[in-house]
Amino acid sequence: MKYCASCVLPDTRPNLVIGRDGVCNACMNHRNKPHIDWPERQKTFRKIVEEAQRRSSGYDCLIPVSGGKDSTWQTVKCLEYGLNPLTFTYAPPLRTELGRNNLDNLIDLGVDHIDYRINPKAEAVFLLKSFRRFGNCGTPMHTAIFSISRMLANRFRIPLIIWGEDSSTEYGGKKDSDAEFELDKAWLNKFGVSHGTSAADWVDADLTAKMMTPYVGASDEELTQSGTASIFLGYFFKWDPEESRRVAVENGMKIKEDGARTGFYNYADLDDEFIAVHHWMKWYKFGFTRLFDNLSIEIRNGRMTRDAALEVIRATGDQLPLNDIKAFCRFTKISEDEFFSIAEQFRNREIWSKEDGTWKMKDFILPDWTWT
Ligand SMILES: [Zn+2]
Repeated sequence: MKYCASCVLPDTRPNLVIGRDGVCNACMNHRNKPHIDWPERQKTFRKIVEEAQRRSSGYDCLIPVSGGKDSTWQTVKCLEYGLNPLTFTYAPPLRTELGRNNLDNLIDLGVDHIDYRINPKAEAVFLLKSFRRFGNCGTPMHTAIFSISRMLANRFRIPLIIWGEDSSTEYGGKKDSDAEFELDKAWLNKFGVSHGTSAADWVDADLTAKMMTPYVGASDEELTQSGTASIFLGYFFKWDPEESRRVAVENGMKIKEDGARTGFYNYADLDDEFIAVHHWMKWYKFGFTRLFDNLSIEIRNGRMTRDAALEVIRATGDQLPLNDIKAFCRFTKISEDEFFSIAEQFRNREIWSKEDGTWKMKDFILPDWTWT
């Protein structure tokens, strides 16, 4: 396992590539940002807005939102540009009170909204299946957000879907100069955390095709026919979590006063009782946690040195999210023992090895880490 010389991410992170100078592609993308002609990109955005308004018969754009900082920022930007958005939320299975309040706040900015709740029985089955199969409990959520967005855009004849950050640029995967406007099935397969699966791949006696309806969505062909385009707002406006936090808080979003649920930010990952479980599995699979992602962004934005980030990691530990794991187990009706035995199957033996009965990573970024 090798680490980027600039941030704290390892090359085990999917789509992250460390170059010959020891710096990862996510850091290189960030270094390129000052050279981006942002006013020019904003002119392009203005043209896209005008085109959407010209073609729309009601809603100009669809914004998938959660009520969090990024979606509040997206909504504020779209309203500033005079768009008439339909906002849509994939309701997390166990929504937090803070998440509920922040979503209400976003709607109160002055938008129409659909809160799409999936049958919890179907979702619990899908969640457990994806956890068993890929050690991933983000697959149902990601599949639902993308497919419902595409379905709503298609049914309501909305010409434009506006997403937030492009995670493949921010966290590694492609160069910003390659950034295209289209978020299609090919992008989803590579970066959308669906492991290349579609709804049909999950159908069996427990999870019927009918139960999978919300996860099906519209096809690329249907969206091409209805002329729906997808863009990332982060392509046109410089995306920084600190900046979207500032805009969101100014517009009424509340942060988690008692500290981060997981990772470094007390203003992210707020809306779901077991969101930390999804992030936690990276520890087993790739040897890093949500904290590493968040701190790497802080380093790139010049708000923290790499050494200071290492100290934060040392002081914080691995952030085993026991409460979130308990919530996940309640929802999927499995025991905690079963949870950990499934998780253990996804421990990456190329980086982890057992010494004296304890799992350790011999190439870990902090050589004096206390393994438990
Ligand atoms: Zn890096």
